[in-house]
Amino acid sequence: MKFIADLHIHSKYSRATSSDLNPENLWLWAQLKGIGVVATGDCIHPVWLKELKEKLEPAEPGFFKLKEKYARALLAQVPVSCQASERVRFILSTEISNIYKKNDKVRKIHNVVIFSSFDTATAAQKKLDAIGNIKSDGRPILGMDAKDLLNLSLECDPKTLFIPAHIWTPWFSVLGSKSGFDSIEECFEDLTPHIYALETGLSSDPLMNWRLKQLDRFHLVSNSDAHSASKLGREANIFDCEFSYDGMFRALSDKKDKGFSGTIEFFPEEGKYHFDGHRDCQTRLHPKETLKNKGLCPECGKPVTVGVMARVEELADRPEGEKPQNARPYHNLIGLAEIIAEARGVGKASKQVDLVYRQMLEALGCEIKILMDVPLKNIQAVAGDVVAEGVRRMREGKVTIAAGYDGEFGTIKIFDGEERKTIEGQLTFF
Ligand SMILES: [Zn+2]
Ligand SMILES: [Zn+2]
Repeated sequence: MKFIADLHIHSKYSRATSSDLNPENLWLWAQLKGIGVVATGDCIHPVWLKELKEKLEPAEPGFFKLKEKYARALLAQVPVSCQASERVRFILSTEISNIYKKNDKVRKIHNVVIFSSFDTATAAQKKLDAIGNIKSDGRPILGMDAKDLLNLSLECDPKTLFIPAHIWTPWFSVLGSKSGFDSIEECFEDLTPHIYALETGLSSDPLMNWRLKQLDRFHLVSNSDAHSASKLGREANIFDCEFSYDGMFRALSDKKDKGFSGTIEFFPEEGKYHFDGHRDCQTRLHPKETLKNKGLCPECGKPVTVGVMARVEELADRPEGEKPQNARPYHNLIGLAEIIAEARGVGKASKQVDLVYRQMLEALGCEIKILMDVPLKNIQAVAGDVVAEGVRRMREGKVTIAAGYDGEFGTIKIFDGEERKTIEGQLTFF
């Protein structure tokens, strides 16, 4: 069965996340977006785990569904065209921040751990509770070697999926420029074969990761890392396998299995760490400019935060454009609300955008389907010429992006100032 899975999100118990991140809203937004399997996030946090045990019930092995009594109250908010309440499943996952010293350097690495059952998650929770504070933050910060965390996860269940998170982020990732390593093996040593997938993060896409031969053995997955429910699925995975934990486990762990069929991606320039620079100084530097400036910020003279593009270049051992044998396809998407906002020349959070968004979902189905599959003439009929043209440009990759840097998201431009007026009434997609 073909389905979309978002395996890394956060709950309301993580720092700097929205209070709307409860099981009910995840269930609701998964349907609006078109996600079949959504991670619970934060499942080691005691209060959140208790809420999950209360509100979810077993479905297919390793998958869980929202109990009917919690779903019922929200059903009216899901347009009939998007309703898939019988198909939204939860999977137990958490992100953990490992901060520790190895080979004389402080390492700060985020990892996503996905559990096959409540029993395994509870067993891991017990072990981690003895090691550090798992109560104050949904994404616990532990002074524990990432390799030891992998070992602990496998002790709970060899079928635990362990995925190094957003592997290029400068400050918090396994290959990050500031506190990571130069290879996955340097971090996980002899346990590396138990890692099947790496999360590319918002600031990089598979094309960039294909530059490193050392990554060929891993599947490249993508997740939203959502801090609010509406961000769900902004990056996600496409599976075509048995609809169960085991089906997904096989798809990622067995090299011969064809069940993992690719990813949905940001345009990597949109990510917060694509270019180099200083956020406080508002200096956004292409890696070539950074080189020219000898790595220093032209405003304050201090070393800039080196972004993902430069870091990939530093570790790359394969020319651009070459595709490894096992590579899966990917699709660069922009959020529908952003396209509508661009088309109308209004803010993303405006009432107008929300109205058109809802109208489109009601008429055409869930968001990911609209972005990827719905014929342009159908989009044109519901949302008008400019929105349809926006979707066309996104599908063809014809958008302009001022790249993100040092924690600042990139900004997308689909239309130039006067263009919106000239497009209106001029188009035909028939
Ligand atoms: Zn993280
Ligand atoms: Zn500066």
